[in-house]
Amino acid sequence: MSRKKAAPARPQRVTVIAVGDELLNGFIVNTNAAWLGRALAGVGCTVVHGHTIGDSVESIASTITSALPGSDVVVISGGLGPTSDDRTRAGMARAAGVELARHAEAEQALRDHLSQQGREPLVQHLVQVDLPDGATPLINSAGTAPGVRMVIGGVLVVALPGPPGELRAVAETGLLPELRRRGGVVRTKSLRTALMPESEVAALVGPIEAKHPEVTIAYLAAPAEVVVRLTASGADEKTLGSVVDEASEDVREVLGDAVVGDADLSLAQAVVGLLAKAARTVAVAESLTGGSVASAITDVPGASVVLRGGVVCYSTESKRDVLGVDPELLDREGPVHAGVAREMAARARELFGADYGVGTTGVAGPAPQGERPVGRVHVAVVGPTTTVDVELHLHGDREAIRRQAAVQALDLLRRTVLGLPPRKGAVSD
Ligand code: ATP
Ligand code: MG
Repeated sequence: MSRKKAAPARPQRVTVIAVGDELLNGFIVNTNAAWLGRALAGVGCTVVHGHTIGDSVESIASTITSALPGSDVVVISGGLGPTSDDRTRAGMARAAGVELARHAEAEQALRDHLSQQGREPLVQHLVQVDLPDGATPLINSAGTAPGVRMVIGGVLVVALPGPPGELRAVAETGLLPELRRRGGVVRTKSLRTALMPESEVAALVGPIEAKHPEVTIAYLAAPAEVVVRLTASGADEKTLGSVVDEASEDVREVLGDAVVGDADLSLAQAVVGLLAKAARTVAVAESLTGGSVASAITDVPGASVVLRGGVVCYSTESKRDVLGVDPELLDREGPVHAGVAREMAARARELFGADYGVGTTGVAGPAPQGERPVGRVHVAVVGPTTTVDVELHLHGDREAIRRQAAVQALDLLRRTVLGLPPRKGAVSD
């Protein structure tokens, strides 16, 4: 008996082809490509090309053919249904230089499936089991069109149905397990940072990329938050684990207390966890963030243990009449002022009987407020023994400014609970 030696595991190069006129004319957004990109990365594949093409046999065939030389795997999404505009099977057959033929097993599975509903297959159903010669069907637990798997010129070519639920169902059973075996193991670790501009994060982490060439480092930036993702792939799980752990420790060290924690946790989750552990409570008084700080906290399961309550005092009158901010201070300085943010935080703390109070006030735009320019924001945290506030000069549109202000409020709370001083300097590029 001859036993074939397994090919050494290495990252698989994948080309993704999304088929559909509706994708080109904008009637449908190509969410399948986004899902596939993540799923493929998760099993250690590198997507080297992505194409979006129309529903013609010619373009499907020629796109497959041109993808073969640079790919280990070609994944196609869409065009496997029963209608005349579903031409992926025919395109694959043409690229492989074979004919379509009814696949007996797939036909039987289809008949069994329909007979459970008391139905006989129509011609349109049966078209879906006319597969390129030599291809195998991939079970579709979410619909009637099976996926199609074949090898063309030594390259694995897999077609998945277009409806996202069906694409996932077929990929999860018929594609990803095979790719995971081919590609070896992938280890990733992601760290969340707050209030450090992406350029600064990259400048600090850069030398670590050079020190650990086997680790790929990616940066995912959102307003005032950056996630640093470390990935390594190869054959040996244990080595990879320690390689990624070591690199992530190095990243933690250079980024210091800008690291909030594991990126699987949101900033609000980290803050709630921290407060719960310290058995401390918080209350918020929000102006420009309009309740989004409280909302982020209440998004976290278990928030009731730490959040006492919050108020949105948007108008100057409500800051005075509802919260009890000093009228003279408001008259003299207006509502966008460090002292106002501090008083808001202090009054929230008192009103709700919390350990910490958080206050936000500022100009989200689009128009300036008196002398205060768009992006001027004050955030304050009052705790049992400390009062801290920061003045921010934010840029971006209204939404970006409000989001950055909310991140600042949560992170200032985190830092105060940990006994860290506020972060100085720009919070985003
Ligand atoms: P069907 O049997 O429904 O015809 P199919 O495999 O032939 O499935 P398509 O005809 O290409 O797939 O697309 C069917 C539907 O699936 C589209 O109308 C759209 O709702 C969704 N869809 C297709 N491609 C994508 C994509 N790339 N991203 C998101 N949704 C998609
Ligand atoms: Mg279709």
